[in-house]
Amino acid sequence: MKTFKNTRILITIFGLFTLVTACNNDGSDESIDDLENAVIGNEDKEALLFMLEEEKLARDTYRFLDDLWAINQFSNIKESEQSHMNAVIALLDQFAIGHTILPDGDFANGEIQELYDQFIIDGSIDEKMALRVGATIEDLDIVDLEDYLNSTMNDATTTVFESLQCGSRNHLKSFVSALELYETTYEPQYLSEADYELIISSSKEHCGR
Ligand code: ZN
Ligand code: ZN
Repeated sequence: MKTFKNTRILITIFGLFTLVTACNNDGSDESIDDLENAVIGNEDKEALLFMLEEEKLARDTYRFLDDLWAINQFSNIKESEQSHMNAVIALLDQFAIGHTILPDGDFANGEIQELYDQFIIDGSIDEKMALRVGATIEDLDIVDLEDYLNSTMNDATTTVFESLQCGSRNHLKSFVSALELYETTYEPQYLSEADYELIISSSKEHCGR
């Protein structure tokens, strides 16, 4: 009986192996790397869903601040945040990961909701505070993306996150130079002083997307 059961398992395994081999037998020489990228791990799933909300945090905050203040940065950068959200959504769809976009100002993640609630209070005070909120969002965004980039093994996720991070560096530079017009500086809250200085002193980058 036991032997029969083991044989059945062996046959099942052999069947699966044949199936996998057959799937790959389409002329393309799929390497182990490609197989790893064909499926997405739970950590990457969580990272994509988290970053979708963080990009939404940026978009919704800038939409709110753009209605309040006549500052070019908010009207330009809110559009860029929409394209960042679209890039994450495209990847979620590619991996068939379900997701919901809540209305403006609503977030599933409690910590992101708290940040948004505080950002619209602070950003309503004056133009300087509004620009500081912008710099804070980009500062946070760059660091969160860096953490995810250091842990992901998925090529598609890496490409999208690098492009988002490049955009965030440009946005940070843009907010900081606007603050300089108000003779104010920004103190990094998430980035190290060294990383922050490196970003601020470099010229505007051309990002992948
Ligand atoms: Zn962004
Ligand atoms: Zn941004």
